Amino acid sequence: MKFIRFIINDIEKIGILDKTEKQIIELFIVQEKNRKDSMIEFIEKIREKDLEIIKNRVDNEVGKYKIEEVIVCSPIRKPIHDIICVGVNYKKHLIETQEKFDKSFQTPEKTVYFSKRATEIIGTNQAIQSRIDLDEKLDYEVELAVIIGEMGKNIPKEDVEKYIFGYSIFNDISARGLQKEHIQWYRGKSIDTYSAMGPVILHKSALSFPLELDICSEVNNELRQNSNTRYMLSNISKLISEISQGITLEPGDIIITGTPDGVGLGFNPPKFLKKEDIIKCKIEKIGELINKVE
Ligand code: MG
Repeated sequence: MKFIRFIINDIEKIGILDKTEKQIIELFIVQEKNRKDSMIEFIEKIREKDLEIIKNRVDNEVGKYKIEEVIVCSPIRKPIHDIICVGVNYKKHLIETQEKFDKSFQTPEKTVYFSKRATEIIGTNQAIQSRIDLDEKLDYEVELAVIIGEMGKNIPKEDVEKYIFGYSIFNDISARGLQKEHIQWYRGKSIDTYSAMGPVILHKSALSFPLELDICSEVNNELRQNSNTRYMLSNISKLISEISQGITLEPGDIIITGTPDGVGLGFNPPKFLKKEDIIKCKIEKIGELINKVE
């Protein structure tokens, strides 16, 4: 099941892709714009029996709208908290960071957690409004995003999947200069439009756990990153169990799980993004997230 948030005739709706994945079955109309994020509200309220009904509709119904005729939005417009991020969670990306970007960067003994702010997450086909005036070293990072479905704290590793709603594709757009200058990564990653997610949330029931998904990115059709989520240094069970020790996770929380090697900073000379570049982030079974730099 692929959940999608979209706008048609100026009305926001939540839907699900039909079997062809080219058309959308409408689930409901969002009545109160901006009151609370509609997808988060949906994730909070949905129960097992609702999912069965929706699954049945996907199996038997043809979608009312073609994807091309709607505006596809980021599945979650505004996160409830800052996005929880994991740093250097693929070994080859850690090595490229140390060799090509920051020779003083030590191999961390434990998982690196930090956060980024997104007042609004942009969706597929929305533009990244670059702030080259603040930092010319603009970079991309394809990541698997985990969307929490149930409130939880002190979650044992073996129970982690129960707390997940589904998965999406995230581009953790990063201003490398600011990241380095300010020591902490927050500012360089939190500029408006530097968070892109979508096009859908794939419900967890579609995947066997632990996940082994091909993950890649292209810039102007040139393959840059190409890996598999099985190469994460800390896997999803470890990440969610660990971060939930003493910290409550809530429905709609977004955890981005790190990026593989092949980001712009890893090339010699570096291949940072420029205006007009088109970045395509792909994860097997989820889809493609496409954003242009403006
Ligand atoms: Mg990242």
